[in-house]
Amino acid sequence: MTKQLWAPWRLEYIENADERQECLFCAAWESNDDERSLVIHRGVVAFVLLNKFPYASGHLMVAPTRHEGRFAALTDEEAIEMHRLAGQGIAALAASYRAEGYNLGWNLGRVAGAGVVGHVHLHVVPRWGGDTNFMPVFADIKVLPEHLLDTRRKLASAWPS
Ligand SMILES: [Zn+2]
Repeated sequence: MTKQLWAPWRLEYIENADERQECLFCAAWESNDDERSLVIHRGVVAFVLLNKFPYASGHLMVAPTRHEGRFAALTDEEAIEMHRLAGQGIAALAASYRAEGYNLGWNLGRVAGAGVVGHVHLHVVPRWGGDTNFMPVFADIKVLPEHLLDTRRKLASAWPS
């Protein structure tokens, strides 16, 4: 007969593990298949991935490697690297997509439009002259002409070294 071990601290661990398991950012970071997980670039404490439900071709996201849902709890190292990665993403989008402008944004909380609330991330959305207004673009998902894998490859190869 198996002995029951009462370990209340396990509950929090299990709950966190479940949350991490369902987290697309943690899953992408832990994946060893960048194509499948749409990871474009891996940094030290932050990384860049393509949004599976983009508002525009090349819509990417920068996230800390750590599962952290509180914006103010990001470390200085994470905040700086995310800022730098967003800048590199802009350079890659300029080189590969001739983007003319960018919207960078944090959606914090469900009411603010965050799809994943447990793991903060910075959106980088490329813009071109004559494209639709920012808010309507963010309001619904459009069908995009380009396959996500092609977008990922283009941006990964255009990533500044
Ligand atoms: Zn996570």
